[in-house]
Amino acid sequence: MPASAIQSVAVLGATGSIGTSALDVVARHPDRLRASVLAAGRNVGALLDLCRAHRPDHAAIADPAGYQDLRDGLAAAGLATRAHAGMDAITELAAGDTCQTVVAAIVGAAGLDSTLAAARAGKRLLLANKESLVLAGELLMDAARDGGACIVPIDSEHNAIFQCLPEAGARDQEPGAGEGCGRHDGLLRIILTASGGPFRGRGRTELGDVTPAQAIAHPKWSMGPKISVDSATLMNKGLEVIEAHHLFGLPGERIDVLVHPQSLVHSLVEFIDGSTLAQLGLPDMRTALAVGFGWPQRIESGVAGLDLLAHGRLDFEAPDTDAFPCLRLAYAALAAGGTAPATLNAANEVAVSSFLQGRIGFLSIPALVEQTLAALPTAPAASLEALRDADARARDCATRLSSRIRAN
Ligand code: NAD
Ligand code: MG
Repeated sequence: MPASAIQSVAVLGATGSIGTSALDVVARHPDRLRASVLAAGRNVGALLDLCRAHRPDHAAIADPAGYQDLRDGLAAAGLATRAHAGMDAITELAAGDTCQTVVAAIVGAAGLDSTLAAARAGKRLLLANKESLVLAGELLMDAARDGGACIVPIDSEHNAIFQCLPEAGARDQEPGAGEGCGRHDGLLRIILTASGGPFRGRGRTELGDVTPAQAIAHPKWSMGPKISVDSATLMNKGLEVIEAHHLFGLPGERIDVLVHPQSLVHSLVEFIDGSTLAQLGLPDMRTALAVGFGWPQRIESGVAGLDLLAHGRLDFEAPDTDAFPCLRLAYAALAAGGTAPATLNAANEVAVSSFLQGRIGFLSIPALVEQTLAALPTAPAASLEALRDADARARDCATRLSSRIRAN
């Protein structure tokens, strides 16, 4: 891309935590970034506010019932922004000519189609929607390679690893180089750090009656409700192990997890010569997003530098998989392969949503995921249809199990 060109950006999940952080970075660089497409789930009011601030060419709401209000609101604001509704419209915009870069920040498996479409269309893909990698990682990485897309992971850990692997930069000088994050010679293992979430240090017996409000009060990161609960159960780290497997091509045995409560070391990479590289910074996703927009250049993110003296210490401990079995379940699903990660992800989405609605307790989240994995046989992940089928079956199964828990 010539230095003078302005990168047009689609932000999918624009009203969420990652979406608003992405737009904050975009607004800091009017000379190089412009939001051309904004898409959200159902909050028309919040989407309209963003449209007034960023004046995109297109705005899309996934919920078809929101179309009229979106169109009228855009007209009332005197904007030329075109209104769209439905997931298909979002997917079409992700692949279309109105954006060169796509920030995939829809939460859950709902983000799969648009993420895949952006990969196939060869976009620069700032990939926050980790569930799409867990559900269909091989297909997504293949689509990115075939389409010539450059994936920059927008998960603090994977973005840290991306920054620690110079090959990632050398091979992906330009979007369209088509190597994804590449494969890396001399790489021994990856160590993902985990904050441990709000319940770090508690035993299993102390987790039975924790509330959704306690679970989403993350000590270090400000995030959407689903990923906050995932952080509290350690399922987030489990999903990230599977995410790292697909992005960096390592088996589960070479991906470790280390609890690091200060959340300043975002992950580490160990090489065969005894070197370990880490990336550090304040816990603010705008750093990862700025890496994604600017790569291989560095651009300002609005995040202050790290004053290690002020923080004083960095602690590390092993994760407790007795109290937080979701991490173990995710490793097992990765080892089982095929449709198992899709089943894990779908059962977890149902369980987290039931927990957030106050219908099941915190410890029922791992129980539901484990029982769903046990109930459904793992099949080869031969096609997108097979994965969608596994996703749908797991949702049915987990929903049934959840109502049974509720009835007891
Ligand atoms: P969030 O709940 O704050 O925002 C989710 C966004 O997705 C909203 O804009 C919502 O309108 C949109 N959305 C929800 N359902 C939709 C649907 N069916 N169709 C279209 N849009 C829909 O979530 P978040 O914390 O921003 O997380 C977004 C993604 O990024 C998740 O996959 C999460 O795991 C990942 N992620 C987030 C963080 C973080 O710091 N928040 C860090 C790493 C990865
Ligand atoms: Mg993360």
